[in-house]
Amino acid sequence: MVENSATTIERIRSTPKIDLHRHLLGSVRPTTLWELARKYDLNAGRQSLDVFRRAIVRHTPALDLADYIRPWAIFREVIRTPEDIHRVAREAAEDARLDGVVYVEFRSSLPGMPITDGHAPQTRILAGEYLEAIRDAFAQSPGIVCRLVASVPRHAVGRASPGQILEYADTFLSAIALYREVVVGVDLTGIERGWPVKLFRGFFVEARAAGLPVTIHAGETEGPEEVWSAIDDLGATRIGHGTTAVSDPQLVRELIRRDVVLEVCPTAGWLTGSLKDRRRHPVIECESPIRYVICSDNPTLNASVLSQELLLAARGADPEEFCREQFRSAARAAFAPDAVPTAC
Ligand SMILES: [Zn+2]
Repeated sequence: MVENSATTIERIRSTPKIDLHRHLLGSVRPTTLWELARKYDLNAGRQSLDVFRRAIVRHTPALDLADYIRPWAIFREVIRTPEDIHRVAREAAEDARLDGVVYVEFRSSLPGMPITDGHAPQTRILAGEYLEAIRDAFAQSPGIVCRLVASVPRHAVGRASPGQILEYADTFLSAIALYREVVVGVDLTGIERGWPVKLFRGFFVEARAAGLPVTIHAGETEGPEEVWSAIDDLGATRIGHGTTAVSDPQLVRELIRRDVVLEVCPTAGWLTGSLKDRRRHPVIECESPIRYVICSDNPTLNASVLSQELLLAARGADPEEFCREQFRSAARAAFAPDAVPTAC
């Protein structure tokens, strides 16, 4: 008898999993955000929950990456206090656990920096308060180990002068230095087009000197040259997406030689327009043994959890065996490998 997909997804859900690429704000519960918008008497809170939800959750591809990340303007307006981000982090951890995730690296940019991406309200929270709230929320989340990768928003920071970027790096790295038990790495996020990876070399040289491993969003909407730059100029050992990397055979060989891991997010790739079909991902279909881990990226925006992403990626393989294989690969690629539960 052929197993139906509801049964298969349940088998995947009950198999322990690791998620290495999951944005904290992209995991917020719409109901929580709506309640906060009402509490602060914001326009967004005057809409019905259904209308509000439709502004955040995507079911069809966006026009481009800028369109896809539009809900961040709402997140930043609505999340205003350390208590708000504590609630968001606690609920995000709980939702991941309910999907069978046992180790997760959430990622988030930091408020209170010298350069912001223009959505000011969140900057009312200081970086230290923000990190403390997240650390406490993670500590209060049973059954799952949560860590944070701190992100640099390229479309904001890239506008600054080299001197301002260094000031940003000092403030950013000083803030996370006090929370290294929870912050395990750094990332470059945001709109790729117009903000080449090499602009941020100075920041990531300093981050690596501080002992922080690096993952870079690259090759999602731009070509393989951005992935080259991420590994050569910024020292990335993991790449967020890297969808276009497989179009360059020399790069594929180099990624394998350096044991770089691609964080593959099928539904996000489809919704940002970089994939025509979320069941056909060039990295998964690549004939060379390129290392990849399946990740959820933004469960709320994508209306998809990690189990569904693994179901899409398994392509007919035994789902539990595929999950176990993914677990081993992700445990080796984690930025805090000693904190990964020995679930498999
Ligand atoms: Zn991402």
